[in-house]
Amino acid sequence: MVLSVTTPFAAQVSRVGFSNTNRARLKPLESQLINTIRAENCRAQHRIFTLKPHMAGSARNYELAEYVAKQWREYGLEDVQLIEHPVYLPWPIRYEATLVNAKQKLSLREEPIPQDKDSYSDEVGISYCAYSADVDVTAPVVYVNSGNPEDYDLLAQRGVDVRGKIALARYSVPYSYRGFKAQTAQKRGVSALILYSDPADDGFKKGSVYPNGPWGPESHLQRGGIVYDFNLPGDPRTPGWASVPGGRFLPAETAVSMPTVAAAPMSYKDARLLLEKMTGPEAPREWQGGLPFKYRLGPTSDQLHLVIENDKKIRSIWNVVGRLKGSERPDEWVVLGNHRDAWVYGGVDPSSGSASMMETARAFGELKRSGWQPKRTIIFASWDAEEFTLTGSTEWGELEADRLKAGALAYLNVDSSSSGSAFSASAVPALAGFLRDVAHDVPDPRGGTVYDSWARQNKNSKEAVVTTRLGSGSDYTVFLNFLGVPVADLTFDGPYGVYHSVYDSFNWVDRVGDPGYRYHAALARYWAVAGLELSECDYVPLDYGAYAIEVQQYLNETEQLAQKFNVDVNLSAARAAAKAWETNGRVALESARKAVDTGDTSRFERIHEELMKVERALLDPEGLNGRPWFKHLLYAPRPTYKAMILPGLTEAIEAKDTARAQMEAARLTQALQRAADVLK
Ligand SMILES: [Zn+2]
Repeated sequence: MVLSVTTPFAAQVSRVGFSNTNRARLKPLESQLINTIRAENCRAQHRIFTLKPHMAGSARNYELAEYVAKQWREYGLEDVQLIEHPVYLPWPIRYEATLVNAKQKLSLREEPIPQDKDSYSDEVGISYCAYSADVDVTAPVVYVNSGNPEDYDLLAQRGVDVRGKIALARYSVPYSYRGFKAQTAQKRGVSALILYSDPADDGFKKGSVYPNGPWGPESHLQRGGIVYDFNLPGDPRTPGWASVPGGRFLPAETAVSMPTVAAAPMSYKDARLLLEKMTGPEAPREWQGGLPFKYRLGPTSDQLHLVIENDKKIRSIWNVVGRLKGSERPDEWVVLGNHRDAWVYGGVDPSSGSASMMETARAFGELKRSGWQPKRTIIFASWDAEEFTLTGSTEWGELEADRLKAGALAYLNVDSSSSGSAFSASAVPALAGFLRDVAHDVPDPRGGTVYDSWARQNKNSKEAVVTTRLGSGSDYTVFLNFLGVPVADLTFDGPYGVYHSVYDSFNWVDRVGDPGYRYHAALARYWAVAGLELSECDYVPLDYGAYAIEVQQYLNETEQLAQKFNVDVNLSAARAAAKAWETNGRVALESARKAVDTGDTSRFERIHEELMKVERALLDPEGLNGRPWFKHLLYAPRPTYKAMILPGLTEAIEAKDTARAQMEAARLTQALQRAADVLK
């Protein structure tokens, strides 16, 4: 059956970045992309990516790289290449946990589920936390709740000594990066850290569990990296340059991203055996999880013998990059990326995104076959080893730094494309308006447009909200924080309790997450329309007036923070620079709009080239204090991956370092002034 979709263009005629003539020219192209993309193709692609476990560095993930390249060539993409990066990529050798007196070995395995035949595979490896240190220790276990600093403080107050003990922490929902828990555990002197999935967070307390519902069953566990990539992402041996065969490498152990603590994941089926043996004071009410007994702080009455061993190997990873070359401005790049590697099958994370990307690429290939060629170059990227330390995208960004800084318009990331039906977009504030505009053009599977359903999610104002405070946790990091490229991250969200477990599989997506693959297709359509518009715009629709207004809000918040921490810092110069930036940003877009209306090509093209440089002006080559790889002065990740606004200044204030705060305020003012001056 041929799926026919009517495209809801009526809502908007004129649009930032486009003359009306150009918009009219693009309409049929957008319709063609939208109608070419088919849910059943997304499903077929998804089955291929989820057929076998495909961790970074595995033969299967290389096979999939070759598959992607072959498909892209068939679609008509040009210069399709597999790009090799040799990187530090440890795999697990041993993970064992035994209760000493009880002589009870924990299973540390996820049980097969009859309804999901992939859960039976013996190719599923040992579960682990990548970049964990090795350990062989026998010690009692203490319960540290989420494993945040305030949790350890409470334990100390209650007289529970954690030093030398094994810490048992639950994962945090909403998500807080496990590397932060590892760093905290390391600082507090525990001998090892176990991260378990409590049923209150992503299991039966949330609702029905897989295979009947989306939540995690008893033995599910969450693998994942614990590397400190909030200090440095990418291969720890090459901070700031690309890992290439025969290149220059530092020893991995010296990197600011390497943990010295050992950590491993656990299901609540196993963790229960530890929690039941806790002695000591009762845990506070907020620490009580979903298991049917009183949680205690510990230590356990029995000792745990824990062995964690990983190899220390360098392995090759493979990015796949292909392009549709621009006819008029080939050196200007619009980059669409998704990672390919998964902890196991990666049903949602990332294979839903991979399936959407294949369909997006195929639709562009069809468009090309019908005679169209993009004005600017559109690049497709299938990243490797995102799960380890955003490795593939970071290495490629470092490799192509010069060309990206000279000509990248934007990077559009999709990690997981669909675990449900709630559209969510995060982006730098300059792209927020554009992302809302695109949503008016893309049909929602429930009827109406993606914009309509996106706006309905915001019960207060019925306006679509773009999350503009960017932390980390996916492949956009190198583009924003190292290169100063405007970025966006797109997904359809839903209840999802099997993240990084063996149950994040084809069957979970096919039966539970997105039956019919309608949201995979919707995401592919959104991505395609956004890519097309950026490649074809008259001037890039980056709204720096809106960006600067938001930054003034950040300055207000930071001023309050300084008062709270009693740090004397004057932000009036920064505020004046932000105000000038706002005015120049608004005037630039207004002039560009007039210039396209009057056909003054040289004028709007000049403004376009200026707009492309603004995000770059917010970088400082010196980088942030203690983590010089992070060069953007408005955003950086906290160790939790939560966004930190005005990071240089914020960190200085939180450290109560007045001299540094004043220096950071001056540095921020200069960056804002540079951004304003680009648009003069
Ligand atoms: Zn992912």
